[in-house]
Amino acid sequence: MIEMQNVQKTYPNGVKAINGINVKINQGEFVYIVGPSGAGKSTFIKMMYREEKPTTGQILVNGINLAKLKNSKVPIFRRNLGVVFQDFKLLPKLTVYENVAFALEVIEEHPEKIKTRVMEVLDLVKLKHKVRSLPDELSGGEQQRISIARSIVNNPKVVIADEPTGNLDPETSWEIMDIFEEINKRGTTVLMATHNREIVNTIRKRVIAIENGKIVRDEVRGEYGYEG
Ligand code: ADP
Repeated sequence: MIEMQNVQKTYPNGVKAINGINVKINQGEFVYIVGPSGAGKSTFIKMMYREEKPTTGQILVNGINLAKLKNSKVPIFRRNLGVVFQDFKLLPKLTVYENVAFALEVIEEHPEKIKTRVMEVLDLVKLKHKVRSLPDELSGGEQQRISIARSIVNNPKVVIADEPTGNLDPETSWEIMDIFEEINKRGTTVLMATHNREIVNTIRKRVIAIENGKIVRDEVRGEYGYEG
């Protein structure tokens, strides 16, 4: 479960990016975060994976209070979390296999188990045949599928995605959404910031709209709802 209580975030330059947010997200939910540029979506998402700390308030993710979590404990916290970025962030010199296996090697998982699990998640994203490729030998959509495989290799309870289809063409974006839906069906919470109106209005899920650092709308099967 994820919970924010009276969360505010002011950056060192004085910009108040989040201005009093209270929200609860249950295990297994699929939530879109929408809102105009500069609304605070990225800040909201970054606080969830402890890339940014709130200035005031509490953030609980899987029972851990992120406002109090020491920097040294962040890597352990992130093992229960998958993060997917707009620009993929794959390691360019590592193969697909190595990129996906990395998170399991860090925790010294048994090599046979690593192999089985990596092939399992590559199968889920339908890219087993690219296991020996380097990221720059793949299309944008394929790179994003690999980064999703990497995000779930640890079996996290929550996957957080910041504009995961932002760099992709419409057809590829739908393929990426199929994968997120499949991950969610298996019980993982999915939290996704997006500007993709068509996706939000077609694959109907909970929509949290943020404007000026506040939640202005929270609907169970919501719509995108902006002209921009
Ligand atoms: P969104 O993702 O909705 O576009 P952001 O969370 O990126 O919104 O930004 C919210 C506000 O915080 C904006 O005014 C932005 O300029 C500001 N901001 C974002 N990151 C920083 C930062 N690291 N330092 C200072 N201001 C920031």
